[in-house]
Amino acid sequence: MRSKELIEKYKRIMAGFGKPISEEGKIEILGDRYVVVSCAWFTRKFYEEIEKYMGEASQGLFYEIGFRMGRDIAKRFLKISPLREKMLDFIGAAGYSLGWMLTEYFYDGGVWYAYAHYTFESQGYIDSSEIKDKPVCHLLRGVLAGIVTEYMGKKFRCEEAACRGMGGRYCIFVIFPEEGEHTIKVPSADLKDKDILAEKYRELASKLPGFRIFIDDTFVSYGGLKYLLVNTKYFTAEIYKDLYGIIGDAVNGVLDRVGRYVGNCLVEIYSKKFEDVIEGISAAAWFFGWGIPEVVEKESLIKVRFYEPFEYRCSAGTDGECLFLRGVILGVLNRVYNEHCKIEKVVCSSSENELSCDFIVVRGDNGD
Ligand SMILES: [Zn+2]
Ligand SMILES: [Zn+2]
Repeated sequence: MRSKELIEKYKRIMAGFGKPISEEGKIEILGDRYVVVSCAWFTRKFYEEIEKYMGEASQGLFYEIGFRMGRDIAKRFLKISPLREKMLDFIGAAGYSLGWMLTEYFYDGGVWYAYAHYTFESQGYIDSSEIKDKPVCHLLRGVLAGIVTEYMGKKFRCEEAACRGMGGRYCIFVIFPEEGEHTIKVPSADLKDKDILAEKYRELASKLPGFRIFIDDTFVSYGGLKYLLVNTKYFTAEIYKDLYGIIGDAVNGVLDRVGRYVGNCLVEIYSKKFEDVIEGISAAAWFFGWGIPEVVEKESLIKVRFYEPFEYRCSAGTDGECLFLRGVILGVLNRVYNEHCKIEKVVCSSSENELSCDFIVVRGDNGD
């Protein structure tokens, strides 16, 4: 199989990056496929694009997706946590292991408080030196509300009382019951040193079946950039489905623009590291579990074959296939060739043991 040869080549190219999470270009954790994405754009770039259609309601959308994720996570952890009363600790360990957040939980007067030393959602703003006037961690708010709802057996909501995206030192999440009496008073928490907390989570993660620390050091990893692992059931399938239900076909444009933005960033980063930037990005795609790409150029046509692309069954709920990857491919090629490239067609095919998608791209002239 051709993909095996590609893997050997990409392994050599990425040797300086450390050990890949999976050698197959396909990351599986507890039976689900995960993908490594950068905090620089996930979820920040989505908010920016979706706000054009929905205004601040986009935050509620990600909150709802997060809420469903949180409930799923809690249901799963109720089964796999060695001790039920330690479940939140184990979820904290899993969240740390995936590069999502480094959090301490407190419970006071019927309300949960989560102090996060690190959240991936705020990191994108910190790295781009953007200070927002409102909290930014909407997906995480939803996830925490979903987890606590399942754990406590009644519906909880979550608001952020402070956020690193606003220049705060921590994100402080307040998770309170939707109904009934409660008083919110953000406790002046006696926080552990973050290294001690990280150490505790490292140890707990190693006790969880199927887990270990995946994103090696949450704070700086892989060439100074920060990353997280996301379940492809949510990114991409659930996000597409929800977006499609609300903004309809405009979802294609959102995914295209987020994809192109990512493609552009990839060229920016990898042109500094690799002489052949397309080959370098292809190798990085394998390293980060996006699949195994192969780029073949023939005069004005470029064929990008992607073995095992991560887009969940290619793009549930939308009218196209591999919509985000299309955008990424165009973002990369436009920037590398400095031309307006166009996707002529995408052919997604799956057999019993392999999925492969072909993107046929036509190089154009730069038009001006
Ligand atoms: Zn935050
Ligand atoms: Zn596809």
